[in-house]
Amino acid sequence: MRIDLHTHSTVSDGTDTPTGLVLKAVAAGLDVIALTDHDTFDGVLEAQEAGRRAGIVVLGGIEVSCEHLGRPVHLVGYGCDRGAPRLLTELARVRSARSGRLQAMVDRLVALGLDVSVDDVLAQAGSSPSVGRPHVADALVGKGYVADRDEAFRLYLAEGRPGYVPRYSVPLEQGIDLVHEAHGVAVIAHPWGRGNRDVLTAPYLESLVRDHALEGIEVDHQNHDPATRSLLFEMGGRLGLIRTGSSDYHGRGKHDHDLGCNLTRPSAYRDILRRIGERGGELPR
Ligand code: AMP
Ligand code: FE
Ligand code: FE
Ligand code: ZN
Repeated sequence: MRIDLHTHSTVSDGTDTPTGLVLKAVAAGLDVIALTDHDTFDGVLEAQEAGRRAGIVVLGGIEVSCEHLGRPVHLVGYGCDRGAPRLLTELARVRSARSGRLQAMVDRLVALGLDVSVDDVLAQAGSSPSVGRPHVADALVGKGYVADRDEAFRLYLAEGRPGYVPRYSVPLEQGIDLVHEAHGVAVIAHPWGRGNRDVLTAPYLESLVRDHALEGIEVDHQNHDPATRSLLFEMGGRLGLIRTGSSDYHGRGKHDHDLGCNLTRPSAYRDILRRIGERGGELPR
């Protein structure tokens, strides 16, 4: 069984529609994917319907924009009840903060001499309810200022670069609690990617397991080098965490994140399904 539990569609910052993503997953020889768009469930139903037609299992998921000590931390929720009121309210707050910071980002880019507007960014985001820096990057690509998203982040949009504007994110502990309240399973995405190792320390992760019943961490991810993967695998085992692996596929939006480039072991996947089932969350259909 080939299982990839972290992917994005055009509903957030991926470049394939949910249906297109499912068809590519089939072509990549996957048996199971989870759709984990940023801060929205809007693509899940379409992906599951496409999955039924194409003969592949689609687990409903979400990647919640959280923070700890002011650093962005991404929390994946699997099998959440997509109508859970308090989770939905918090997601709406994050999405509104996403839209709200666009003008400030554009103002910064304009001050740097780049001719780009909020409308340019929204045109790139299309109908996505979850507008983010990747769409700003796409607008810069569209204007010919940078070659691709990577260059846009490197020059302008990454933390510490002149176009970066922070936005509201959910305190991590609260995010975990909200996923659980929605009967979902909480897994921290790429915990030690992009400099977060000093923030998500082993003692802190241990406290999340103890006090918030955190269930898992993503171990095999392109932002983790082999040594980091070994350390996370060992630590996750010690803490009794489910250890996942996934591509974090964004279509053309991220190089070197091809579908199936990292996989989740069937035993870990079954563990996730069992827990969703036990608490009455949404199992894949
Ligand atoms: P936002 O949520 O709008 O702050 O944008 C964060 C998203 O941008 C992440 O989910 C990634 O998809 C992407 N991203 C963040 N940092 C980088 C980077 N350095 N290079 C490329 N993409 C990035
Ligand atoms: Fe993303
Ligand atoms: Fe992420
Ligand atoms: Zn992701």
